[in-house]
Amino acid sequence: EQDGGEAKEIAQYLPWFPFKGIPRFYDIGGFLYEPAIFQKVVDIFVDRYREIGIDSVAGLDARGFILGPPIALALKKPFIMMRKKGKMPNTVSSDDYKTEYGSRSGLTVQRDKITKGQRVLIIDDLVATGGTLSSAISLVKMLEGIVVECACVVELKMFIDPPADSGLPSRSKLFKD
Ligand code: 5GP
Repeated sequence: EQDGGEAKEIAQYLPWFPFKGIPRFYDIGGFLYEPAIFQKVVDIFVDRYREIGIDSVAGLDARGFILGPPIALALKKPFIMMRKKGKMPNTVSSDDYKTEYGSRSGLTVQRDKITKGQRVLIIDDLVATGGTLSSAISLVKMLEGIVVECACVVELKMFIDPPADSGLPSRSKLFKD
């Protein structure tokens, strides 16, 4: 189950989406459409974080907004939105960053939602280069919260350390920490 199990079988991937040069796009729409599998995915996270102990769940725009709330509700913990700039009042912002798709502007979080020492779980659907998660981690740190873990349903391992001639960005080079 840690490996994806049924969710992995149902996760379809498409070559060259959203544009040519992207080798694979994993579409999570498949397992969201299967309530039994969606429930299992949520339960795996809920069991893990009930045991580890967290204070809040931060979800990344946009698919972290689908996966985060059922986990937060099951654990009876607050859900926090991490969004692109200009979408919410009273925010702090992280720096612009690089991803699989090129440069992206930083994320924001409302400054009163994370307090010093708060144990935050960060949720997104997928990690590729790690740029988006690194940006989310920096927001939690800016507000002196503690990142317990980052949790995703899919990890694209090809970005950990791709061959130099592949043209793919490398997670281990871009985000050493
Ligand atoms: P990273 O910042 O790790 O390079 O890219 C991860 C971010 O881009 C996540 O927010 C994720 O939703 C999105 N993303 C990148 N590639 C894919 C993909 O193949 N499928 C999906 N569903 N999201 C992707």
